[in-house]
Parts: sequence; structure tokens; C-alpha cells
Amino acid sequence: MAAYTDKHVLITGGGSGIGAAIARLLAKEGARITLAGRRLDALQAVAVTLPHAFSCHTDVTREDDCLRLAARAREALGPVDMVIANAGGADSQPFNRVSAASWQAAIDVNLTGTFLTIRACLPDLLRNEADNSGLRRIVCIASTAGVKGYAYVVPYVAAKHGVVGLVRALAAEYARTPLTVNAVCPGYVATPLLEKTIANIIAKTGRTAEQATLELVKNNPQQRLIEPDEIAAAVLWLCSPAARSVTGQAIAVAGGET
Ligand code: NAD
Repeated sequence: MAAYTDKHVLITGGGSGIGAAIARLLAKEGARITLAGRRLDALQAVAVTLPHAFSCHTDVTREDDCLRLAARAREALGPVDMVIANAGGADSQPFNRVSAASWQAAIDVNLTGTFLTIRACLPDLLRNEADNSGLRRIVCIASTAGVKGYAYVVPYVAAKHGVVGLVRALAAEYARTPLTVNAVCPGYVATPLLEKTIANIIAKTGRTAEQATLELVKNNPQQRLIEPDEIAAAVLWLCSPAARSVTGQAIAVAGGET
């Protein structure tokens, strides 16, 4: 029997990119999947390709949405065993043009959204706490921006460092339960978010798409973009019984960049 059969995995931002890749891989291993995000059509397009999935319209920056998500997911597929806090977004501009509103927006989606998602699911994740055989996991999709600085994305870098801090503190707090808490820190991954970053570079610098991509790729010592499936594979391992002693870690999948 696959390790994930009968496991209920809730993934935010599951309608595209890394979140969709994680959903496909964990579903292939037998998990039931709740997909949460702001675009119901995108969530449903992924859900119909999975054997056992539920889609829930959710804005992770809203506490009431996250509480409703946890309740509806439990009602649809049973208590949640694993949370993949993946929803996020990045805008770039020089620091002297960062408004208080764009700072707050980056913190809201990347950091507060992660906090609200996890807190709403915590009662499920900690149920039957004494039963050490339970497989309970939180994996946050942070970024290499959670462990090093990049120019022109100060709010994103600050928010992702916050995610790594949240992961380390939660891992310490729940170390005596079956719950592990980790962050995966991707380098540049070929997803819609990266397409937006490349479009932004083109608009602001007049570079071609190829030049803009090369500009990003040169951060990665392997000199290539990472595929969403590579991030999903790291998440799958962190969710496995074999990774039960791995907690409070920020694991880079970035070609040696950090
Ligand atoms: P993506 O744009 O395909 O995925 C982000 C998802 O989050 C989207 O489905 C989007 O709808 C959802 N989302 C955004 N705001 C939301 C909100 N308020 N409520 C609910 N859902 C919301 O891009 P991706 O690259 O797959 O990004 C996934 C995660 O990976 C993000 O946290 C991102 O910061 C992180 N990441 C991406 C890269 C990269 O190069 N692509 C690198 C490092 C980290």
C-alpha cells in the first residue's frame, strides 16, 4: 500500500505551477487532495485530473476564508493530515519605490497566508496527538529568498525569511508530536510566477525574453531553470515516513545556489 493512501493533503495555490505539480505527485501516491486558491476554474482544471480531489475557493490572506477552507476540506475528505502552504507571489521594484501597501501585500500573501492556513488546520494536524504512528506534515514552499537576499524584491525576501522563521519555531513547538514542519526553498522554477517576473524584466529593461531568462538562470550554478516536478519530489520525501526525523529545516532545491 502506498504511504499516502488514506492521507488527506491540503495544498494552497494548487491551481498552477508548483502547487499543481505537488498535487499530481501526491495524488499518484494515493493521497486525497484538497486544492485551495483564488481561481476556482484553475483549481477545478487540476482536480478533474486527480482520482480523489476537492477544490475550495480561498484567499489565504483572509482568516475567515482559511477557517472555512479547513472546515469544508474536513467535511469533503475527512481530517487533514498534511498541509502544503504554497500560495505566494512576488512583485519587484527598487526599495525606494516600495509603498507601504505593496510591502503589506507581500507580507499578507506569503507570510500571513502561510500562518492563517496552518493555524486553521492545526486541530486536524494535532488530533490524537499521543498516537505517534500518525503521519502529520507541514511543508511550506518558501524560496531561496527565504535564506539569502536578492535585489529589487525586498518585501518578498522579508516575507520568505519570515516563512523560514515560522517553520523553525513551529518545528520546535511541536517536536514532541508526530507533526514535522519544514520549508522547501526553490531557486528559479519554470512556472507562471516566473513568467510574470520575466515579463516585468522585459518591460522595465527592454531585454528580450531570452536575455531576461538568462539573467535569472545565472544565479543557479547549474545554469538552468528548475522544473516544478523537482520541487514536488522534495515535498513527497518530506511527507514520507522516512523523513520523520527531519523537522525545522529549510531545504534548498536550487542547483547549489545557497
Ligand atoms: P504560481 O503563480 O503558479 O503559483 C502561486 C499560486 O498561489 C497561484 O495558483 C495563485 O493563484 C496562488 N495565490 C496567490 N495569492 C493567493 C491568495 N491570496 N490566496 C490563495 N492563493 C493565492 O507560481 P509558483 O512558482 O508555482 O509559486 C508557488 C510558490 O513557490 C510561491 O509561494 C512562490 O513564492 C514559491 N516560489 C516560486 C519560485 C519560482 O521561481 N517560480 C521560486 C521560489 C519560490
